[in-house]
Amino acid sequence: MKDKTGHSWAEPYKIKMVELLRMTTREEREQAIREAGYNTFLLRSRDVYIDLLTDSGTSAMSDRQWAGLMMGDEAYAGSENFYNLQGAIQEYYGYKYLVPTHQGRGAEHLMSQILIKPGDYVPGNMYFTTTRLHQEMAGGHFVDVIVDEAHDPASPHPFKGNVDIAKLDRLVAEVGANHIPYISLEGCVNMAGGQPFSMANLKDLHDWCRQHDIPIMLDATRTIENAWFIRRREEGYADKSIREILREICDLTDGCTMSAKKDLLVNIGGFFACNDEEVFLKAQNMVVVYEGLHTYGGLAGRDMEAMARGLREAVLQEHQDARIGQVRYLGVHLRNAGVPIVRPIGSHAIFLDAKMFLPHLDQDQFPAQTLAAELYLEAGIRSMERGNVSAGRDPETGQNRRPALELVRLTLPRRVYTQAHMDVVVEAVASVYERRTEIRGLEMAYEPEYLRFFQARFQPLE
Ligand SMILES: *Cc1c(COP(=O)(O)O)cnc(C)c1O
Repeated sequence: MKDKTGHSWAEPYKIKMVELLRMTTREEREQAIREAGYNTFLLRSRDVYIDLLTDSGTSAMSDRQWAGLMMGDEAYAGSENFYNLQGAIQEYYGYKYLVPTHQGRGAEHLMSQILIKPGDYVPGNMYFTTTRLHQEMAGGHFVDVIVDEAHDPASPHPFKGNVDIAKLDRLVAEVGANHIPYISLEGCVNMAGGQPFSMANLKDLHDWCRQHDIPIMLDATRTIENAWFIRRREEGYADKSIREILREICDLTDGCTMSAKKDLLVNIGGFFACNDEEVFLKAQNMVVVYEGLHTYGGLAGRDMEAMARGLREAVLQEHQDARIGQVRYLGVHLRNAGVPIVRPIGSHAIFLDAKMFLPHLDQDQFPAQTLAAELYLEAGIRSMERGNVSAGRDPETGQNRRPALELVRLTLPRRVYTQAHMDVVVEAVASVYERRTEIRGLEMAYEPEYLRFFQARFQPLE
């Protein structure tokens, strides 16, 4: 598929080792999904052909990263790999201090406990599940300050990840700036469909925060992908490198939490980083209690080496062109097949609009859950429900929340699948779309108390 300059992109790597996939028959898939209670989280990986459940920890490492594993210095204290990682993070993100953690939520835990006081308000450009939970467990209240367009699947706004400064003004007027410990800013906002913020918006936010003496803490999980969108879509950035843009973003913020399982091309890892020495000293002390010594934070030396090497690969233009190009390829072909998807196409996933796909199903017949199960039955493709099941019940009324967005997420791991796999996905979705009027909904057979989407079981309606 051609880019703006009329050239096709291709993967900037070749394949040295392959992982064989098991092909299944329709009968085998019928049995597998029945045994999984029509919940794709409960399928066994061996029964899945193309796994688009998540891009978290599922990317393919390069030969250099694998070679880095062999260079693991597994000393309890002062591992050489820690210093390599620290150097890479100071160089690319620009923060002074680093505390490694086992993954993103480990860093969120440290930061939330250190910065949030009970009764505080933490504004963010949409919530993320683990981020919000850690804010709440520290006694804070999350407040959504993303632009309204982010909640509309049909809006073509190029920067749906932007913060609405007027919403911040209203919050300060209501609760006072001294009850806002920091702004939580996410790049390529996951729950909005992988939608970026713009540099112009970040500069406005930075000015606003300086005025009110409130720091900006970045959720840096997909910020390198966000930098790609700024270069592509924002005036004045076409000639800057992803690396320069990443640094410019970080220089406008005060610290970050990171799930390295996304941008940084590793199977496990994360970190907290900041510029404030006092906050750093607290995090460095606290990590010893919950994760491990401050020079490994729950990781093996080899994991830190793979992260440092993954970072150098993640900022390469050709890597992101292929990464985001593949997501676009899938989205454009689905759109051309008439399949309803969330627009604009984001960084890491395509979201099918299940309400428009299966308009004959009531939302309490779980259209997105149904569609995810059908996609598996059709071709062994695993996706994730992001709708009525994920949203849970309203604690006041006990009723399903019936959220505005009823979506199925097809998430692409980095460097794992080929364009031919994408063609198979497009054909499978299109063929389910053709027979959509025959598809019946589901009813819930077992509902766990917490985060029900992970473990709920369903059965087909008669
Ligand atoms: C995955 C993710 C996290 C949590 O990171 P884990 O490594 O899964 O603990 C936090 N924020 C965002 C935006 C994420 O996508």
